[in-house]
Amino acid sequence: MSAIRLAAPWAGWAMPLADVPDPAFAQGMMGEGIAIDPLEGTLRAPCAGVVGTVAATGHAVTLLLENGAELLLHVGVDTVALQGKGFRALVERGASVDQGTPLIEVDLASVAAKVKSLRTPVLIANSGYRCTVLACDRLVEPGDPIMDVTPLDLATQERLHEGEEIMRAVELPPGHGLHARPAARIGAALKGYGAQVRIEAHGRSADARSTTGLMALGTRAGDRLHMTAVGADAAAALAALAALIETGLEGETETPAAPVPAATLAHEPLSANQLRGVRAAPGMAIGSVFKLVSQAIAVERDGRGTDREMAALTAALSNLSAELGRPASTAAEEIMAAHRAMLYDPELLALARSAIAKGRSAGWAWREATRARAGSLQATGDARLVERVADLRDLEQRILARLSGDIEPGAPSAPAGSIVIADDLLPSRFLELQKIGVAGIATARGGATAHAAILAAAAGVPMIVAVGPAVLELANGDMAVLDADRAIIDCKPDKAAIADARALQARRSSDRAAALESAHTLCRTRDGERIEIFANLGSAADARSAVAAGAEGCGLLRTEFLFLDRQTAPDEAEQRAAYAAIANALEDRPLIVRTLDVGADKQAPYLPAAFEDNPALGLRGVRLSLARPELLKTQLRAILTGVPAPRCRIMVPMVVDPSELLRVREMLDMCQHDLGLERVPLGVMIETPAAALMAAEIAVHADFLSVGTNDLTQYTLCIDRTSDALAARADALHPAVIRLIAAAGTGAARHDRPLGVCGALASDPLAAPLLLGLGVTELSAIPAMIPALKARVRALEMAECRTLAERALSLGSPAEIRALLEKTI
Ligand code: PEP
Ligand code: MG
Repeated sequence: MSAIRLAAPWAGWAMPLADVPDPAFAQGMMGEGIAIDPLEGTLRAPCAGVVGTVAATGHAVTLLLENGAELLLHVGVDTVALQGKGFRALVERGASVDQGTPLIEVDLASVAAKVKSLRTPVLIANSGYRCTVLACDRLVEPGDPIMDVTPLDLATQERLHEGEEIMRAVELPPGHGLHARPAARIGAALKGYGAQVRIEAHGRSADARSTTGLMALGTRAGDRLHMTAVGADAAAALAALAALIETGLEGETETPAAPVPAATLAHEPLSANQLRGVRAAPGMAIGSVFKLVSQAIAVERDGRGTDREMAALTAALSNLSAELGRPASTAAEEIMAAHRAMLYDPELLALARSAIAKGRSAGWAWREATRARAGSLQATGDARLVERVADLRDLEQRILARLSGDIEPGAPSAPAGSIVIADDLLPSRFLELQKIGVAGIATARGGATAHAAILAAAAGVPMIVAVGPAVLELANGDMAVLDADRAIIDCKPDKAAIADARALQARRSSDRAAALESAHTLCRTRDGERIEIFANLGSAADARSAVAAGAEGCGLLRTEFLFLDRQTAPDEAEQRAAYAAIANALEDRPLIVRTLDVGADKQAPYLPAAFEDNPALGLRGVRLSLARPELLKTQLRAILTGVPAPRCRIMVPMVVDPSELLRVREMLDMCQHDLGLERVPLGVMIETPAAALMAAEIAVHADFLSVGTNDLTQYTLCIDRTSDALAARADALHPAVIRLIAAAGTGAARHDRPLGVCGALASDPLAAPLLLGLGVTELSAIPAMIPALKARVRALEMAECRTLAERALSLGSPAEIRALLEKTI
């Protein structure tokens, strides 16, 4: 068996597999290799071989090479969903091919318009081979050498297995143990390392890249974790892991867990018809019952051949992965990300693969794998982990549905306004019920921090869980009263009980309305200083929730929402309509529209940036807009014509000196002149240390300034805002960041310009007195925080805020500043 050199299968840009926007490929789960973003439509054989499989949808092909390696060529990401449209397979299974033989014809233009990416993984799917990449981050022509595939001789393989095993032990810091998010962080931290890493605790051991495996260890704060690693970069991998674990793995709290019933409520006596559960999402519902019965999906035990079953499973996984990438809300986004991590869990996939290799069907193998993992989570006895079993079951069902030919399990036919009763609720089922508009949910099992519960709380659907099997005795059409605030369901309410419940419901909603009403009056501090409380928005729907929450305007419209996840830039008319819809939703409130801030972590496929080692330090924000003036001009015209001038303000991101602002000003003046429109205020974001230090010079030309604490923190502390490993240290309350905000405040004041904050720090009521004391007069927050923020500001006095800010500026660590602020609450 000898090394085989692979030639580029088509002309295009060669890149590492890690750049493919699909975790299965990017994380190397499908094998090692390279990817090519094609410039032409004929995919050719990279070397001689025998065709192993040709996907029925024509988007992928495998070749068996002479040295036993199995080469997979997979055109693009999520291309299976096109059902063959745009693809023509030119070879059949079993055919012998030479290097250069055409394999697949792709209609690049039509496929590119419909899929996330055309980046084509070229990888070795079986183990026992070393892939040496020969071309990376450059253009290749068909036939150019791209990779050597070398069989690992037995000795090397043995050495790899025996390897030098490196060990290290760490103590798990305070937190909730290795639950879903920390486990996913560990996996992410190991992305760049080749070493095999395992973690042991409680006599159990798991692959450190396996989210569910780590969760099943059942660890808790203070546990000693024994880490072992084998491979060339074993020491570095363990060092990175130890650093991550020691600096804290939690980041944000895992769930906005709804409180469980207060002890007093738990002792509240129940009537004979009432059942008690645990509050998962507050509120009250009165309606007729709809029972959700889950239907088992039939699964064949035996497979139709390893290749076919593996291909079916891969297609189902990538189809579901694409679906999970389209979340309906921010809460759903986090949960879907956790599901995606579980979907490509290496241990889960290994279990499924091994069952398929033993002759089982893809469905059978997947079901066995997910149930085995669920069993180990259950066995930990840890409530948080046991709640993740529903997530695994959800993934089990959704993949089985896809394998059986259904895209989704049949949507429930619950009537709108009904109270849904179920044994347990899968997150995907909740999303369907939410669409229907059900009034409330009660489940026999489940937990208050299960993902379905989090989704219900975010959507405002009252829900109680863990009511017990008695709740399943309710029949379709029965009347019920669900009081989720008290965690009680009344299963046979009489007329009087229903009337009482309606009265209580009316009282509670008027209480809520009163609370909200005070959120709708303009915000002033106790001593009468006007502070504008604005909202950060990304869509018209956001604008509606912001108005409902009491927002006095929009302090940051992230226009990227219109530009990302598509193949071409929106034209002037489309942009105008989108901005106008948001301006309408804000009624007569002011709207600060930020010009396009793509680049770095926000990439648009049709604005291909030249490769940059540090894209966050490269062509992003205003730099990109000035490099593509036609794009900026179109956007400025759309803003000016979409948003009524008296309420319109335009803000420029990523400025480092006045010259950038002046160039935008020039173009804006030109657009206003061409359109015959009046001048609108033009402001800047202060999100680079340079801008903060140059605030006075910038303020000469800027009508207003707004601090973007997210980027300001990233650039000041040199911590990539996307870094999981350093997330806990990216603290906007770091003295260096606070001093830069103070500098911005001084610069803005020198020219009498208003200063706002629109980064995440503005949404933290704890930081409000400090920001006000530093000269900030506008806070732009996430809509949900607006009532709390207004309440906080109303309780503040400006003189106290200034004294507090002065003290904060003399402190030397984020912890000291936080402690000072906590004392003011
Ligand atoms: C910021 O950097 O703080 C900011 C508000 O901009 P974005 O988060 O959109 O980069
Ligand atoms: Mg920013």
